[in-house]
Amino acid sequence: MNRRQLLYGTGIALVSSAVARARVKIPASDDETPKPKVLNLPDYQPTSMLHVRETRVERARYPVIDIHTHITETSKEVNGVPLAAERSFLATPEELLLVMERKNVRSMVNLTGGFASGLTETIEKYDKSYRDRFYTFTEPCYARFLEPDYPRIQAQTVEQAHRDGARGLKILKTLGLYLRENITSGKLVKIDDPRFDPMWDMCGQLNMPVAIHISDPIAFFTPTDRFNERYEELNNHPDWSFCGRDFPSNAELLEARNRVIARHPSTRFIVLHTGNFAENLENVSQNLDRYPNMSVDIAARIGELGRQPRTARAFFEKYQDRILFGTDATPHVDNYPQQLFEDALYEIYFRFLETDDEYFDYAPAKVPPQGRWRIYGIDLPEPILLKVYNQNAARELRISL
Ligand SMILES: [Zn+2]
Repeated sequence: MNRRQLLYGTGIALVSSAVARARVKIPASDDETPKPKVLNLPDYQPTSMLHVRETRVERARYPVIDIHTHITETSKEVNGVPLAAERSFLATPEELLLVMERKNVRSMVNLTGGFASGLTETIEKYDKSYRDRFYTFTEPCYARFLEPDYPRIQAQTVEQAHRDGARGLKILKTLGLYLRENITSGKLVKIDDPRFDPMWDMCGQLNMPVAIHISDPIAFFTPTDRFNERYEELNNHPDWSFCGRDFPSNAELLEARNRVIARHPSTRFIVLHTGNFAENLENVSQNLDRYPNMSVDIAARIGELGRQPRTARAFFEKYQDRILFGTDATPHVDNYPQQLFEDALYEIYFRFLETDDEYFDYAPAKVPPQGRWRIYGIDLPEPILLKVYNQNAARELRISL
């Protein structure tokens, strides 16, 4: 047998022994065969194996006006309706300024400034103590909703708030999802209820923008089940689900909001959370085209924008004059990493807007809190960045930079 014959023969032998092994299954002992393990979803924290660039953006390229923050909040809320004028102060201005200095945040706009004495106290403590670093918005006084003259009272309360130094009006999703005919009970009050018309008009007359949060992520209106892309978030916060009961659909809420915007063309509306439909930028674009008095912020929605980076970038290019920088930053809310006021939060927003980094976390958390995906930077050109960081907000707030 020459060498070639020998190799050939060995090959056959190898093949036939493999066939034999395949046919005759030798029972393996338990420790040899790995069995699928059950892993609880919250325990699953995969580490990305991608080697991609990681850019740290410690300071924004231009001074930032954060149009959407919560520095104070109501001290009393019943069934989702804020009722007390008294405020809880979540951080001192000095504490906030340390982070603002490090991150190049020129100003924070505190949307939940409340009304009456709570509002004036907030403005004294922040806006007047540190000029141009803090601006405060007022909120409706729903506690007076049952008074017969409420429409006029509410308009006058906004007028008084303006005299006291409020820069705009904030509408929480209370309107449409929590406020009821008897304030905390009864039928839900619709967003376009005519009792609020004098309030919207007053904002227009006083040039106060209305920062309006209507509805929520679309997944909050579908069942919390294995098909829900935000299952873990809803499972952690079951009260965030608006699926079932007497809640209107997401579409009904947005339509009612649109009727308000259409009916008050001289009032400017900053529709928060990317027009409250970041999952559907085509819908947001249609509304921006339809309503010249509408703009949007991006607060708590870079998780949505950053997972559709090409669509998002085109959206920023087209509506570069009507998109405002916002984060929803709130001090000391450890349960909500996507809005916890700290350096890390701002760095993620800056990275999203300023770089073309790939596949990074949209919130400083081990598990992405709003859904298990990561985001991509959109690398905005400098002129657009400047508009989004401060010029668009300065125009809305009527301030000079
Ligand atoms: Zn907010």
